[in-house]
Amino acid sequence: MELYDSIITATRALLAGTEPRRWDYDPAHVWRDTGESELVMLRDAAFELGGSGCASANFTCVTSSEALVERDEVLLYGKDLGELKGDVSFARLAFLLSDELSGDDEAAYQAIRDMEFVKYHVFPEGYMVRISSESNREQVRLSKTAVARGVSFRGIGGAYIAGYHKNPHVRRVQLVFVTDNGAVAELAKTAKKVDGITRTLTHILEGIPTDCGSCDLKPICDEVEGMREMHFGMRAKQ
Ligand code: SF4
Repeated sequence: MELYDSIITATRALLAGTEPRRWDYDPAHVWRDTGESELVMLRDAAFELGGSGCASANFTCVTSSEALVERDEVLLYGKDLGELKGDVSFARLAFLLSDELSGDDEAAYQAIRDMEFVKYHVFPEGYMVRISSESNREQVRLSKTAVARGVSFRGIGGAYIAGYHKNPHVRRVQLVFVTDNGAVAELAKTAKKVDGITRTLTHILEGIPTDCGSCDLKPICDEVEGMREMHFGMRAKQ
């Protein structure tokens, strides 16, 4: 699975100007997951990530390149939750090392979707997430209680990593949080590209003709290595 590799590389280049804080995944430092969505009322909120018109971005990239995801870890670019004093721009990115996705292309695509959907099943305590799949935004309301108890991105990232590992295809996870304003606006553009790849995969699996000259998806296939090969490979098998 190489479709998202160029996105992972470009994202790292985008963030390269800042040294992140980095924590290896440690099950002893995972913030409690309540197992169900929790309502954090505005009056109980300390601040919001990606709230009040701040930029927000969220995307997931799956790769089978061991070199791109070397270990389970959490990276933070910007301030940690205990250091924030008000609403900020926010991005959460997940880079997942998968096993070689076997079976036909449709099964591989479904496996990617299942890995992406893990984000809807992680419920850190005092950390209310609202996701907009149309705009690729992820907005989070932090409760005052969670902040007083010392919630951190290390613990929240740990909860996500534990969630991703419930999927049998996921071998390693690099979870990246960004609270740096300028970077998030750029990452929102990257999130659109990732969404474009996923939509193109959907259309390919719906069986569109292999006529690149009249295909609306050509800009994406021109940019993403492996997409065209995938479509023509599927056609050859039919
Ligand atoms: S390979 Fe060609 S026909 Fe297939 S989706 Fe890409 S541009 Fe369209």
